[in-house]
Amino acid sequence: MIATTTKQLEDRYEQARLKFKNFLESNNNRKTPERFAILEEIYLNQHHFDAEALYIKMKQNAYRVSRATIYNTLEILVACDLIKAHQFGNNKTLYERSYGFEDHDHLVCITCNEIVEFDDKRVHDVVKDHSQEHGFKVEYHSLNIYGKCQKCHDLSSISV
Ligand SMILES: [Zn+2]
Ligand SMILES: [Zn+2]
Repeated sequence: MIATTTKQLEDRYEQARLKFKNFLESNNNRKTPERFAILEEIYLNQHHFDAEALYIKMKQNAYRVSRATIYNTLEILVACDLIKAHQFGNNKTLYERSYGFEDHDHLVCITCNEIVEFDDKRVHDVVKDHSQEHGFKVEYHSLNIYGKCQKCHDLSSISV
């Protein structure tokens, strides 16, 4: 996502909410308050998260949601293009809000799982050049770079 203000987050949530509402209506899915509470939590507070962490957070917020509701809502949100699912190389699916957020890339620490985002115009240019060359229509891109973060790297060089 890269830097955003609370106001921007609220605006995006509002747009995402409308999109979700329309999507649920046109697919004859139920518009339950739980589903909107999940969307709100994701758009206002969550960055890169997994289903279990979201479930725990919703419980802490005193929402009565089941795991089934969490999983099912995440699936709908992916289909509706409001969140993206990432596999950061550890078999665990992490999600992140995507509506109104620019495509960006990730540095993923394979030791502590920390994720750092970056957004570089040069990457966008490379994506554009190569896709144009092949007449390829890009939906989105996601570049993940795996390794050790500074902290984990420092720790591992001390212990040798
Ligand atoms: Zn990200
Ligand atoms: Zn690390």
